[in-house]
Amino acid sequence: MKFKKTLAVSAAVAGLTAGAGMSTGASAAEFITIGTGGVTGVYYPTGGAICRLVNKGRKAHGVRCSAESTGGSVYNINTIRAGELDMGVAQSDWQYHAYNGTGKESFKKAGPFKELRAVFSVHAEPVSIVARKDSGVKTVDDLVGKRVNIGNPGSGTEATWQVMWSAMGKKKSDLKLAAQMKSAETPAALCDNKIDAFFWLVGNPAALNKEAATTCDVTFAVVDNAAIKKLVADNPYYRTATIPGGMYRGNPNDTKTFGVGATFVSSTRSSDNTVYQVVKGVFDNFKQFKKMHPAFGGLKESEMIKDALSAPLHGGAVKYYKERGWM
Ligand code: GLU
Repeated sequence: MKFKKTLAVSAAVAGLTAGAGMSTGASAAEFITIGTGGVTGVYYPTGGAICRLVNKGRKAHGVRCSAESTGGSVYNINTIRAGELDMGVAQSDWQYHAYNGTGKESFKKAGPFKELRAVFSVHAEPVSIVARKDSGVKTVDDLVGKRVNIGNPGSGTEATWQVMWSAMGKKKSDLKLAAQMKSAETPAALCDNKIDAFFWLVGNPAALNKEAATTCDVTFAVVDNAAIKKLVADNPYYRTATIPGGMYRGNPNDTKTFGVGATFVSSTRSSDNTVYQVVKGVFDNFKQFKKMHPAFGGLKESEMIKDALSAPLHGGAVKYYKERGWM
């Protein structure tokens, strides 16, 4: 609680700082806020890890970073666009759609978000459908007629659900219930038999998936049919993916699915100096960064600066990548 309050204060200060037009000063203290996701997901600890490394050097560079729990990808992109967040974590599919003004009604209406900037990509996010074993759900097609949490409004999860479900030729009424709880609420709802499955896109291992798998018997459903194969073939931001066997209790075998990449984004509103300091914090301390969450174990610098990114790289990131001889 106390921690939360501190975050809220920092966010307010960040708003004031940006509003006062001080965001380019390198010497004055500069407060930046990173939008993440639910507290039991991987985005929230990702934002926390980035900020911890940035804040290590804050005496020298003056940038002070805080991570905020949010509704997820779409919320983060919209809030960066509104100038109320400096940076955020977002799924690669919604980074692509925001930049191009495609993919969902609200993005089409708003038009291309040409000021959106990619900073780097992080972990892979496979589509995870976690079902109670006694629901009988073994594949994505078995969700018809079931009670499913499809993701909270503002999440990349919910937005990708709509794309996937309609690509399969299905409507909302093909589910018995399309719940929109926040991710943190879903393990209890699943194990209390209020829903049969929850759907989301998340890095592995995720605390929330572990919570569900240790509280009741669950199955990770296979997400691989003709419609999914076509989605992956037709769109650059989707990949086939695997949820590793043995990672979650009761699921010894690999689960075939598809997924996106988690990416770190900002906009042209953030100064080159700020983004440079954030990127430097992560890549100057890369060994330490990789140890900060088990989902980061396989990350490689060379992939992070180009894979799953569709908006142009931010100038501050380019500056650092050039200094390191990576570009
Ligand atoms: N990919 C999810 C979303 O944007 C968030 C996952 C997480 O919190 O780690 O909805």
